[in-house]
Amino acid sequence: MLFFIIWIVCIPLVIWIILRIVSRRKTDAAADPDIQLEECAICHEEFPMDALLEKEIGGYSRIYCFCGDCIEQLRLEHQAKVAHKAEEEQISEAANS
Ligand SMILES: [Zn+2]
Repeated sequence: MLFFIIWIVCIPLVIWIILRIVSRRKTDAAADPDIQLEECAICHEEFPMDALLEKEIGGYSRIYCFCGDCIEQLRLEHQAKVAHKAEEEQISEAANS
């Protein structure tokens, strides 16, 4: 009799624990609705706001967001362009003298 009572109590308890674990996994897997995603203005991929840099651009005070990869890409392009220009100037200076 005692075993039967323990059995009756344990089955719902075990089911409840399993349901808790399953529902917790589901909420972990689903994207957190509190995290606001924003699109990068260059690559159009979505990132959480704290991974993006916000910049006010143009006369209409429009705010654009940029991701780290795109900022790095722009920096590399700028660096390559400046280096190329400096090289050209050195060549023309050498040719003039
Ligand atoms: Zn980007």
